[in-house]
Amino acid sequence: MSLMRLAYASEATFEAKSVEKGVEPHVARILMTSRRNNGKCQLVGGLYYGDNRFFQYLEGEEKDVLETYQRIQKDSRHKNLITLIEEPLEARTFENWSMKYVPLSRDVRRFLDDHGLNRFDPASFSSGQCEEMIELIRNSSQDQKLVNYDEAKTIEKRPNAFSVGQRTGLIVAALCLVGALFAAGSML
Ligand code: FAD
Repeated sequence: MSLMRLAYASEATFEAKSVEKGVEPHVARILMTSRRNNGKCQLVGGLYYGDNRFFQYLEGEEKDVLETYQRIQKDSRHKNLITLIEEPLEARTFENWSMKYVPLSRDVRRFLDDHGLNRFDPASFSSGQCEEMIELIRNSSQDQKLVNYDEAKTIEKRPNAFSVGQRTGLIVAALCLVGALFAAGSML
């Protein structure tokens, strides 16, 4: 089994709906499908969406990356795909992410400013700029991880504060206390 990584840029074909908070609905649907499918084959990476452009990074087993990319290439929600990186990978560099979503955040704005770019146009990124983008995805902070599917799962799996035994003990103690109060009251 061999690992590989892949990055591409594309242009959205849909009319982006403005949202005050959260993720553009078309992008949210793409993320849902991506996270469901990628999680099954341990495909990891990140998706940037901004200025009607996508930048996506994927890494995983070669077969899974290529199969997924074939599906992505046929998707009518974007066009003019340009493959920016397609190469073997020695070891995984992302953990726990089926598909990280990073909106055009302050980090990306700073990246664009640093490179004198006035809009997000990943198709024109140099290989060094692509690597910087991947690094930004890798390091993106908590507030940028919108609709974080993995986080939701972690919350669901979080153990209860008290075990079943502890909860039973607490109920018994509460009942004893109520009983003792009643007994004390009847003696007055
Ligand atoms: P399905 O169950 O067939 O479809 C999933 C949902 O997507 C359904 O609600 C369906 O209505 C909707 N949908 C599919 N195609 C379209 C379309 N053309 N227009 C409107 N709605 C549509 N898929 C991945 O598995 N992993 C990825 O990392 C990934 N990244 C993507 C990045 C971008 C920028 C885009 C545009 C798409 C990406 N996709 C990704 C989606 C991919 O192109 C396929 O739609 C998806 O993989 C199909 O998987 P499925 O058969 O399980 O989905």
